[in-house]
Amino acid sequence: MAFSSHNSPVFLIPESVMLRFTPVSLLIVPILAAAQAPIAQRENLAATVWMQRSAEMSAVTRTVYRAATAALPAARKAGTGAALEQENRPDLPGKPAIVLDIDETVLNNMPYNAAQAANGEAWTASSWENWVLARKAGGIDGAAEFIRAARDMKFTVIFISNRECRADGRYDSEGRALDCPQKAATLDNLETVLGYRPGDDDVLLRNERRGRDDSNKSARRREVAGRHRIAMLLGDDLEDFVTRARFDPARHAERFGTVWFALPNPVYGSWRGPYRDTEALYRALEPWRRQ
Ligand SMILES: [Mg+2]
Repeated sequence: MAFSSHNSPVFLIPESVMLRFTPVSLLIVPILAAAQAPIAQRENLAATVWMQRSAEMSAVTRTVYRAATAALPAARKAGTGAALEQENRPDLPGKPAIVLDIDETVLNNMPYNAAQAANGEAWTASSWENWVLARKAGGIDGAAEFIRAARDMKFTVIFISNRECRADGRYDSEGRALDCPQKAATLDNLETVLGYRPGDDDVLLRNERRGRDDSNKSARRREVAGRHRIAMLLGDDLEDFVTRARFDPARHAERFGTVWFALPNPVYGSWRGPYRDTEALYRALEPWRRQ
């Protein structure tokens, strides 16, 4: 990975600070120089620290979840479908459900991302799987209280996650993966954080059902739509609401804050698709240029 000169960490220190603290700056230059070596995930440093350390992260997620809780009665009463997969359907199932993503929506995986940033490691399927199987994720602030409120109002709470079921290819007669350690670990972790164990059918992982197209979440939303009226969607990624290619910002804007509730995630997600490395992130900046 190539790094341009303007990406030097020294560049990030304002000139005034450098002048005022010259002796200190001389001391830290060797450290900064060492940090200049390409480090995988370094782009995520500030975002990861924000997610882990800032009071603002907790304030934002609590704000979103309180707003979602306040919107539950209207979502219960509305009788309409929140998912595009149920748009214009006159024959909606009666039983209402709330559909949530899991990672960075309900479970907080930042220790995994922090380890990458600290150790200069890139994301890999195997390190992620080790993290999932360790069952060590904490909760996103506000999520457990929201889920309790939704269950108290008799919503079924359903989780659609891209945690991948990497089973050995054996399925039961209904096409469900027979052995999926990732599912067991996810249910255990959710139980610890939420104080109850979600039902097996209420957690839909990627590739746990034979023949289903899990390249995005639409097929799983359709599956849930067959048995429930999806009253609300919550997630930290646009794909938790709508397939990116189908997203129409003008047409779908009114759903946010009413039946779609989005959590923040500046560390990872489908939004990072075009911005894989530091060069691409710099190219994506839209800086003010004085005329
Ligand atoms: Mg997520």
